[in-house]
Amino acid sequence: MNPFEYAPALESTSIVTIKDRYGLFINGKFVAPKSGKYFPTINPSTEKKLSEIALASTEDVDLAVKAARVAYVKVWSKMPAAERGKYLFRIARILQERSREFAVLETLDNGKPIRESRDTDIPLAAAHFFYHAGWADKLQYSGNGSGPKPYGVVGQIIPWNFPMLMLAWKIAPALATGNTVVLKPAETTSLTALLFAEICQQAGLPNGVINIITGEGATGAALVNHPGIDKVAFTGSTEVGKLIATSIAGSKKAATLELGGKAANIIYDDAAIDEAVEGIVNGIFFNQGHVCCAGSRLLVQESIQDEVLTKLKERMALIRLGNPLDKNTDIGAINSAAQLAKIKELSAAGDAEGAERWSPACNIPADGYWFPPTIFTGVSQTHRIAREEIFGPVLSILTFRTPQEAVEKANNTPYGLSAGIWTEKGSKILWTASKLRAGVIWANTFNKFDPASPFGGYKESGWGREGGKHGLSAYLKASN
Ligand code: ADP
Repeated sequence: MNPFEYAPALESTSIVTIKDRYGLFINGKFVAPKSGKYFPTINPSTEKKLSEIALASTEDVDLAVKAARVAYVKVWSKMPAAERGKYLFRIARILQERSREFAVLETLDNGKPIRESRDTDIPLAAAHFFYHAGWADKLQYSGNGSGPKPYGVVGQIIPWNFPMLMLAWKIAPALATGNTVVLKPAETTSLTALLFAEICQQAGLPNGVINIITGEGATGAALVNHPGIDKVAFTGSTEVGKLIATSIAGSKKAATLELGGKAANIIYDDAAIDEAVEGIVNGIFFNQGHVCCAGSRLLVQESIQDEVLTKLKERMALIRLGNPLDKNTDIGAINSAAQLAKIKELSAAGDAEGAERWSPACNIPADGYWFPPTIFTGVSQTHRIAREEIFGPVLSILTFRTPQEAVEKANNTPYGLSAGIWTEKGSKILWTASKLRAGVIWANTFNKFDPASPFGGYKESGWGREGGKHGLSAYLKASN
């Protein structure tokens, strides 16, 4: 036995109460769906059912949009901005107070390690509300003219990889700018959004300002296509993003789309290798690689490739995969059977196209959805694993000889969400960053997020930015 084996350190789930069944949150109340339909939500690390979630129909979507419109016209648009800000501060504080409850629920429903939900997702979600609370009464100084106006009713659709954090990225700026909201969480991870609905009640938020409707893709489509929606904000796959863009074309609806990525993480030969290896691991294995800005293509300078690979493998052998509720766990469960199938299919394509697969020895639990941390070497630009978003703990490794080649390879993708640069030379960072076509570029670090910093992509990674002043402008109609 490994003398340095950790003792289990399980987080208790007693802080969370999960109901047998959840309705829709419309006009400040939980109501049964008109559809009469429910679907199960499971714990992906055990495949056991956690609860039943309402499946909202077109009629349910209509009720939610109407409630948001009434709340906008009668209450929210009339309220002084400083008062709106107080609600955001209140929500942020309650989120902090109940953060452990949210973290445990997120881990149960999503499969991500408790260490990440506790230390990253929920604190960042609260930070987003605090940041935007401060903006609510200062919008005339945000660079959007002297009297910027909200759109009205915003339809928001979020994915399953950071359920609570994506909710905060969407709802906090929408409320701060004076819009009302109908939000649809992803079908596999609705529970924290429903707990957030309880926080809206606890904070005394006026009825109808936030409405949460659960359901599948068809529910999302009904929301996007509802004539009462003034703006759509979507985070998810490029495929669905394109469908949304097509369906709102020619309408008056505004949209922000945060879509896929295939980020290059560039390691120059003068980089601090140990730090870079940590950055590679964080870049691709954080959140099981279910990260749109993941550093999923490693571009390593040829002269240091052997050293980087050796150190990376040593480091990967220490990664702990297993029960997401264990505080020692680094890699939790894959969120769904469908996502696991996609990761397996793309990895098999890597084998078939001639790349070489490696994973450390790793005990895969019998139940649940799991995929070991994996790297592919011998990857060429044309391989599917170098071009398509895998959205799993799978890294494709390519090499380069010159900075020019690194930049060309990095930019050779339909995406452009993020990138990483590792070098000890500031001039090389600036040169490389100025040439990369990516919305977020990290230097000598990776996956750092701050509510004040805009996030978003070039090309097929989407339209618009979230966070910072740029993110506010996505929820405001500029006027002078
Ligand atoms: P992912 O790859 O993250 O699963 P999806 O784009 O499939 O991404 O899902 C992201 C969100 O979009 C989910 O909430 C999903 O229910 C919703 N969705 C899926 N299809 C559609 C659609 N046609 N129109 C609107 N929303 C949709």
